[in-house]
Amino acid sequence: MTYSLTLHGGAGTILKSSMTPELEASYRLGLEEALDAGYRVLTGGGTALDAVLAATCSLEDNIRFNAGRGSVFAKDGSQEMDASIMEGKSMMAGAVSAVKNIRNPVELAYQVMMKSPHVMLIGKGANDFAALHGIPLEHDEYFFSQFRYDQWKQMQNSDDVALDHNVALTEQKKGTVGAAACDVHGNIAAATSTGGMTNKQWGRVGDSSIIGAGTYANNKTCAISCTGHGEMFIRAVAAYDVSCLMEYKGYSLQKAMDIVVNEKLMAIDGEGGMVGVDAMGNTAMIFNSEGMYRAMQSSNGEREIAIYK
Ligand code: ASP
Repeated sequence: MTYSLTLHGGAGTILKSSMTPELEASYRLGLEEALDAGYRVLTGGGTALDAVLAATCSLEDNIRFNAGRGSVFAKDGSQEMDASIMEGKSMMAGAVSAVKNIRNPVELAYQVMMKSPHVMLIGKGANDFAALHGIPLEHDEYFFSQFRYDQWKQMQNSDDVALDHNVALTEQKKGTVGAAACDVHGNIAAATSTGGMTNKQWGRVGDSSIIGAGTYANNKTCAISCTGHGEMFIRAVAAYDVSCLMEYKGYSLQKAMDIVVNEKLMAIDGEGGMVGVDAMGNTAMIFNSEGMYRAMQSSNGEREIAIYK
């Protein structure tokens, strides 16, 4: 049985010309660390769910990526985070939106799935649930990154909202993170986590915590994690649409993802991409932007870490 893991660290205007060798190396290292953290779980016979959790937590802990530590700033200067996780066998899911000071929002989403009768908790309710279940918190300083603060300051007095990848600053730090995995038992899972979009309205919820939009998993079809302009991914019900094309039209993972990313999302200016797996362990990483931080590894010997088109 082929097992595999694929992950992303955000998509957007990621150009080699605006990258220094040091910066590129540090992104690659971040992707590699997350890939190793998740893939190790699969090699040890662990579940796809635990693999996506491990990979996503690793990316959340890395200040370079816009999730957990290093999240972008909302219009009021706060850092609100969204995350979700879904398992394809039971089709259980957990999600949190607009949470603050949670070290690993994806861990909180996982606990919502495991320890509550609900799928999604938001804001204060989610933070109260975290306190009840001993989820680690951090002070504001932990989440602060000068780069994202400067990005936000550039935009603060406008009504603009931006993918953090697309705010033009010399040093680029990006973006939403997520993973999809297939384990040795043929079970699949996906997880996504983000600080959202720079200068967003506080209380704004993107696709990353919406099951069916930014994250979806169903053993019959696929497990998907998305990144990009969240409003469009919500309107396109992007992750679920990949599953629908596979289930109702019999398309392969690759073909279904290609149609959603390069046709359906493009038609509504939905910039971004997604990573996915199916229950046979096939993987795909597809984006319509200049680049997407991405990585994959499979028990059939494939391993790839890439950034640009
Ligand atoms: N999809 C995320 C959101 O809209 C942003 C991103 O992927 O960079 O919140």
